[in-house]
Amino acid sequence: MNDVQIAGGSRVQTEPNDFVHVLLFRCMNCGLPVVQALTTDSKNLEEIDLNFHNIVCRCGWSGQASGLEAKRHWIESWSKSLSRNRQPD
Ligand SMILES: [Zn+2]
Repeated sequence: MNDVQIAGGSRVQTEPNDFVHVLLFRCMNCGLPVVQALTTDSKNLEEIDLNFHNIVCRCGWSGQASGLEAKRHWIESWSKSLSRNRQPD
């Protein structure tokens, strides 16, 4: 398993606003990969692993799977802030 490397060393001082948890599932119908990406302010893997996620495949299959069933689970640092201000809905 590859660890997420944060480049920049001492430059990384500011907390990112969010993290994206990317979960890679396999469709139980057709076997194709189905990616689920969730934004959260938590870097906690277990929090996501223990939750159930709605998976929708292109083949039309949909179902629920816990994060533990994902083939891979990785985290990206993520900032939701856009270059231009966007009013919340
Ligand atoms: Zn499918």
